[in-house]
Amino acid sequence: CGIVGYVGSAGPSGRPLDVVLEGLRRLEYRGYDSAGVALVVPGGELATAKKAGKLANLVEEVAAHPLPSATAAIGHTRWATHGGPTDANAHPHVAGRVAVIHNGIVENFAPLKAELVAAGAEFLSETDTEVVAHLVARAYDESKDLAAALASVSRRLEGTFTLLAVHADAPDTVVGARHDSPLVVGLGDGENFLGSDVAAFIGSTREALELGQDQVVTITPTSVTVTDLEGTPVAAKPFTVDWDT
Ligand code: GLU
Repeated sequence: CGIVGYVGSAGPSGRPLDVVLEGLRRLEYRGYDSAGVALVVPGGELATAKKAGKLANLVEEVAAHPLPSATAAIGHTRWATHGGPTDANAHPHVAGRVAVIHNGIVENFAPLKAELVAAGAEFLSETDTEVVAHLVARAYDESKDLAAALASVSRRLEGTFTLLAVHADAPDTVVGARHDSPLVVGLGDGENFLGSDVAAFIGSTREALELGQDQVVTITPTSVTVTDLEGTPVAAKPFTVDWDT
């Protein structure tokens, strides 16, 4: 339902976890039933926290069990379509060293899940989204390129999606892709943002890029790269947010 991504531990906006929680707060108006975050911890680890119910439940959880400091973070508020609103079904979904958040519906998740189960994958949720985490983890193991992995997986998905993914081996990177669901980039100074809408980052920057249909974006603290699903570079449309907040 609501999506936030952030890279830039040295950026002016503060700790990645706090930036993402603030973005989720600003996206609360969309409505949701669960919330979660994944952090990329330098040294090659992921840390996640997710809770059914209000964002306050997630905030309580990370206060009671503090997460390690991070260089990149993704956060999600879920509006359940496949699987009830439980902690396990909340996003992010982790497979191996990959964490994924998703807005929308993967219509062909059942055959993809059957294929993955046959190949030995273990599922921890009832969501359509979890297949994406497994597919991206497997594609990354082959290409060692997270954007290429997300692009190739996106080509296999039917339905609607905004997807963000992080990998434990890529501490400074968040990748995103979209099909029939919005994704915008917020441009910062030593930090960059992704959001399902500009509310995700409006507290930090008004300079933005709009991603087109079937595009993949890679953000690091100092770069933004956009391609189509074949990996060919494309230009994204810049705009300035002129909302009053
Ligand atoms: N279909 C996914 C789920 O049920 C994502 C729902 C959403 O857009 O929040 O978990």
